[in-house]
Amino acid sequence: MINLGILNLQGDVSEHLEATNNALNELQIQAKVIKVRTVSEVSKCQGLIISGGESTVIGKLMEEDGITHELKESKIPVMGTCAGMVVLGKETGYQQPVLGLIDMKVKRNGFGRQKLSFEKEVKIFDQNFPGIFIRAPYAYEVGSQAQILARINDKIVAVAQGRHIATAFHPELTEDTMIHKYFIKEVLKCVE
Ligand code: GLN
Repeated sequence: MINLGILNLQGDVSEHLEATNNALNELQIQAKVIKVRTVSEVSKCQGLIISGGESTVIGKLMEEDGITHELKESKIPVMGTCAGMVVLGKETGYQQPVLGLIDMKVKRNGFGRQKLSFEKEVKIFDQNFPGIFIRAPYAYEVGSQAQILARINDKIVAVAQGRHIATAFHPELTEDTMIHKYFIKEVLKCVE
């Protein structure tokens, strides 16, 4: 049985758990969705989701607990949303530990004060997706290995690199499970 981990260090973890279970039901795939906190729990997973929250806190705890090292070694697919996107990138302009699994530079809280939170349709995988942005970051420099999946004006709000995917918005806060389903399929490809 596949284990899909939701990193439970800080942030909106339960919403991701529910969305992942809904996506599995829709795909009619059996997998265990578990909240994980320690490196040994993470090592039992075939895919990991890093939620929104505070990227500084999440990145620091991941590094201290050896999870950063584990993910770089095991190369399991990682999906990051909002703060999770920040953590997946290579650079933020701040002194904060990140994973660097996606070759992108990320601007934290990139949409400015007047737009700290907003909803906007995002065109991704040729579909319209209800994007919920909460103090969202955006990517401003993306390496040639990475693929830009969505933009809002000139701001890059979804990026994939190989098995990893990052979104600046929160797919776990909508009913639409499209992004979770995409990620589950990436995980399945890696275990086949
Ligand atoms: N601005 C936050 C950060 O940089 C992310 C906000 C969020 O995850 N909703 O960590």
